[in-house]
Amino acid sequence: MPQQQNKICLIGTPWAEMESQFLTLGLTTLQARQTWDWVYRQGVLSFLSMTTLPLPVRHRLEAMYSLERLSVQQERVSNDGTRKWLFSLPNEANQCDSLASEMSIETVCIPEERRITACLSSQVGCALQCHFCRTGTMPLQQNLTTHALVAQVLHIKDVFQDWPQYRKTRRLTHIVFMGMGEPLLNYAAVREALTLLMDPHGLAFSRHRITVSTSGIVPVLASLARDCRVPLALSLHAPSDVLRSQLMPINEVYPLKDLMQAVRLYPRQSGTVRVTMEYVLLKGVNDRPAEARELRALLRGLPVKVNLLTFNPWAGAPFDPSSEEATLAFAQILAQGGIDCFRRRARGQDILAACGQLRAGTAQMTC
Ligand code: SAH
Ligand code: SF4
Repeated sequence: MPQQQNKICLIGTPWAEMESQFLTLGLTTLQARQTWDWVYRQGVLSFLSMTTLPLPVRHRLEAMYSLERLSVQQERVSNDGTRKWLFSLPNEANQCDSLASEMSIETVCIPEERRITACLSSQVGCALQCHFCRTGTMPLQQNLTTHALVAQVLHIKDVFQDWPQYRKTRRLTHIVFMGMGEPLLNYAAVREALTLLMDPHGLAFSRHRITVSTSGIVPVLASLARDCRVPLALSLHAPSDVLRSQLMPINEVYPLKDLMQAVRLYPRQSGTVRVTMEYVLLKGVNDRPAEARELRALLRGLPVKVNLLTFNPWAGAPFDPSSEEATLAFAQILAQGGIDCFRRRARGQDILAACGQLRAGTAQMTC
């Protein structure tokens, strides 16, 4: 449990641990349940507002525990409504004082007409160094704690007043782990956060509406499927080992043969329908008809759909986005092979909403 201002932070603490602490304090399981309800169903920010608890209990909890979220270092709102926050991590989570000022993560939120989607970070930086990704240029500094993972969601619910007392119709219903970092290399905290996010007595997100995106950490995929049962997105980005290893060094460790076998099994293991293959189109690199045909052959018979992503350029990036014509031709070749293919609209480009860009932009501004 992280500590803030000498208080224990309750956000992100698993139910069993919180209940056991309450019992140790001489409180009851019912009081723990009521507190859990106030925190995750009602969104209160102070124990003093928990009117179902006796006043002395509220004061006691207020003195011991905190419900703090993350502190906002920067906020940007895009012309298309996409919002992005740069959060500083709480001091106690910083593992190295000299890095404290740099310990920040990004969270993106995409409001649409009827729903809101949160895009969460799972690590500060990333060790995997995919060449098209801005986060990949930052060293891995830290795994996010369960507190930091869940607090990203609570912040968005606070901002959009997505709590029962406000009676909003547009709610945060969808979560994707597509921000900074590789979620499956921080699996313990991600699993704990997913359990909390899907807890029917708490935040109660539907498991069908949470997607974990991974570069393909093969040995963890079966655990994710069995423990969390959430839909999977796989960052594929190339149809052959040669090209994929050039773009994503992790392919040297987990090549396509192993990855495709894991993809074949995932829907059955997890009770999901199919795996989403993410494919960022890079001009002249992986977007030609030859690669489309190779991809079509690779995916034939697998339980997948393809999401074609528009490359979000960043300063110094060694790639350019594909043209509209190349994108349409690529999609058509996949469709001819009976592969469901979608295009993910680029959102929030004016606020550097792609993975790692706001933090990188800030780092550039400050040095
Ligand atoms: N590490 C995980 C999740 C974070 S990245 C993963 O790799 O899947 C989320 C998605 O954004 C991935 O599909 C990633 O390949 C893609 N991405 C990274 N940089 C991008 C960029 N500049 N433009 C478009 N998509 C990008
Ligand atoms: Fe890391 Fe994902 Fe970016 Fe690759 S694409 S560097 S795995 S965050």
